[in-house]
Amino acid sequence: MTRNRGFTVWLTGLSGAGKTTVAQSIVNELRASDINIELLDGDEVRTNLSKGLGFSKEDRDTNIRRIGYVSRLLSRNGVGVIASAISPYREVRDEVRQSITSDGSEFIEVYVQCPIEVLVERDVKGLYKKALAGEIQEFTGVSDPYEEPLNPEVLVKTDSESVAESANRIIAALEDRGLLRRQQLVEVL
Ligand code: ADP
Repeated sequence: MTRNRGFTVWLTGLSGAGKTTVAQSIVNELRASDINIELLDGDEVRTNLSKGLGFSKEDRDTNIRRIGYVSRLLSRNGVGVIASAISPYREVRDEVRQSITSDGSEFIEVYVQCPIEVLVERDVKGLYKKALAGEIQEFTGVSDPYEEPLNPEVLVKTDSESVAESANRIIAALEDRGLLRRQQLVEVL
């Protein structure tokens, strides 16, 4: 019996950049394959696994380490993990990368990029308006840092490409690494 090699796709980017939307699209595509997929969404994680954590650097790092830990356990059991979290600090992202790859699983960092002006315009959750008015402290991109990935495996630009285009480029990166075969998608469709 062979087991699929697990992997973690790690979507990082500012609030509202499209991490959850693109992650959902990937999950929908990959549900049709024979790989077990699990979505770890930052907002959801903060309501259970990381309940009680705030937005200081220390708490943000703890949150990311927890998501990274679960991603590592799932990945090494052949699951394809799609993790979506702002994860603004480079050092802890790299720490998660290191722990997952040294465990024998693949880590694919995806920078979900969108200019702040577009995010302020989009303001789907109404958070930028509040953050700019000073009503929310420690808001990433406004009053808290975001350290861009220097060398992400995939860069998606949600101001200029569609959700499907972004999702397809990420799926193509998985195929390029032999983690997913187009046949696995086609066979079951
Ligand atoms: P995040 O998870 O990064 O906070 P969300 O996925 O929750 O972001 O919100 C992104 C918003 O931007 C959604 O309302 C989505 O419909 C919209 N959007 C517009 N264009 C795109 C695109 N090309 N890719 C992803 N999201 C997009």
